[in-house]
Amino acid sequence: MSKIDFYHVNYENLVINLEPSMNQNHPFRQDTYFGLTVDVLGAGKNCGLRMARGPLPTCRPSHIAIRGEQSTESHMARRKLVYEGKAKILYEGPEPGTLVQYFKDDATAFNAEKKDIVEGKGVLNNRLSEFFMTGLNTLGIPTHFIKSLNMREQLIRAVEIVPLEVIVRNYAAGTMSKRLGIEEGTALPRPIVEFCLKDDSLGDPLVSEEHIIAFNWASQQDLDDMLALALRVNDFLSGVMYGVGIRVADFKIEIGRVYEGDYQRLIIADEISPDSCRLWDLKTGEKFDKDVFRRDLGSLTDAYAEVARRLGVLPENPVPIGKPTLIN
Ligand code: 5GP
Repeated sequence: MSKIDFYHVNYENLVINLEPSMNQNHPFRQDTYFGLTVDVLGAGKNCGLRMARGPLPTCRPSHIAIRGEQSTESHMARRKLVYEGKAKILYEGPEPGTLVQYFKDDATAFNAEKKDIVEGKGVLNNRLSEFFMTGLNTLGIPTHFIKSLNMREQLIRAVEIVPLEVIVRNYAAGTMSKRLGIEEGTALPRPIVEFCLKDDSLGDPLVSEEHIIAFNWASQQDLDDMLALALRVNDFLSGVMYGVGIRVADFKIEIGRVYEGDYQRLIIADEISPDSCRLWDLKTGEKFDKDVFRRDLGSLTDAYAEVARRLGVLPENPVPIGKPTLIN
C-alpha cells in the first residue's frame, strides 16, 4: 500500500511540506534547490504556488514552488478567504466567477463532535475529487471543477450552493439503517434519493420534497434536475468503483446554481471523495471511507490511499526521494 510521507523543511519562517510520492503527472519542470526536488512553475504572477514569506538567499522565492504544498497559514496570509468549512477552505479565484478550493487534513464526524487531523487526507481527497469530477465533466454531467492547481487545491466555478444535501443510497447504512431498522449492508430495491437541509445547528435533518417547495429551498424544476443529476452521478460512481472492486453503498453530493445570462442551471459542487461516500470492498466488505474514522476502524489515510491506488491516481511504486536536509 502506498505510504504518504510528508517532509517538513523549515527555513526561517518559510514552511515547505514535501510530499514525495504524489503529483508526478503535472506538466511542470522539476529542478533542485537546497538538495530538494522542486517544481518550477514560472515566475511572478504566473507561478502556480508562490512562496509567500521569508527571504531566500539562494534563489528568488517567486520563481519556485516546492513539490507539495504550503501551510494553510501562509495561504491565508496571501489570499482573500471566502469561506472556511470543516474540511475545505475557499479562496477568491484568479478570475471573476472562480474560486480556489483548498482541501484540509481536518477530519470531523457526528456534526464535529469528533475531530482529528489526519495528515495527507486533504491531498487524497483533492486528487480523488478531481478524478471523479473530471470523469463527470467528460460524460457531460456538469460540475464546478475547472482544473487542478496543486496537491491540495483546485480551481472551481463559484456557485450558489442549494441549501440541501442530496444523498443517494444503494445499500442500507448509517442513518437510514438507524431510522428504519434495516440492517446495514442490505441491498435496496432501487437507488433511493434523500434530501437533507444543510444546517449544522439542526444536524442536517432529512426533509421531504413538500418541505423543500413550501420553504422555497428549491423549485420543483430544481428538484427534478437534482434527482436526475444525483442518479447520473450514482451510475457513474457505482460503475467506476465496481471496476476496481469497490461497492458504492451511498454518497452525498451538493449542488450549485450557476447563472448564464437569463438562465440558471444546476451543477455538481463541493467534493466527491471518501469523506462523502460509503465505499466497501466488493469481496471482503472492508470500509474505505469516513466510517473508518467515525467508527475507529484503523488508518483513514490507508483507506483513502487504497481507493486512490486502485483508481490509479496514486503511483503503485512511488519514486523515493531522499530525506531533505534542514537548511539554516
Ligand atoms: P448518513 O445519512 O447515513 O449519515 O450518510 C449518508 C451518506 O452521505 C454517507 O456516505 C455520508 O458520508 C454522506 N454524508 C451525509 N452527511 C454528510 C456531511 O455532512 N458531510 C459529508 N462529507 N458527508 C455526508
